[in-house]
Amino acid sequence: MSKGLLIVLSGPSGVGKGTVCTALRSQVPDLVYSVSATTRSPRAGEVDGVNYFFKTREQFLEMIEHDQLLEYAEYVGNYYGTPRDFVEKTLAEGKDIILEIEVQGALKVKEKFPDGIFVFLMPPSLDELKDRIKGRGTESQDTIDHRMSVAVDEINLLQHYDYAVVNDKIELACERIQSIITAEHCKIRK
Ligand code: 5GP
Repeated sequence: MSKGLLIVLSGPSGVGKGTVCTALRSQVPDLVYSVSATTRSPRAGEVDGVNYFFKTREQFLEMIEHDQLLEYAEYVGNYYGTPRDFVEKTLAEGKDIILEIEVQGALKVKEKFPDGIFVFLMPPSLDELKDRIKGRGTESQDTIDHRMSVAVDEINLLQHYDYAVVNDKIELACERIQSIITAEHCKIRK
């Protein structure tokens, strides 16, 4: 049995990674989603164990200490990390898994999984990105400004990725990512 593909989807806050991932998962039921751990508070409607594993700072530090995270990063004042066992088990079962994570974490995953497929979701423009973060209505002005400056830094790391996908329309972005997955399954690995 061949190993599954590890797909990393990054992109600035507000670009629509979550929405694209949800749409992808409904269109590609075999694609497994990695649920991250975070110290951020749940937003309205977010469910523990579905959107994130919500942890206290102490619990998160304990996960780091016990080497339970494949990668982790501090992002706008909170910790986010990928539980290691679940990813390794899913790949060993020959299933594809998608990690929706920010850039620092993605670069750490790349060191451990150089064969991973690294996809960067781009906003159609920076103005559009700001409107989307504001439109979410969940962030304070300070957080919006902070997320926008981090977004510019993140876009500057585009060259570390294999693919850039513009999220102009969710259906189109999903189609592009599905095409990438299909192509990667057909690829001859040397
Ligand atoms: P949010 O607070 O908007 O849910 O997520 C903030 C950022 O953290 C997003 O860019 C999201 O992709 C990223 N993120 C979510 N989970 C992880 C993770 O496990 N590791 C890393 N490095 N980033 C994550």
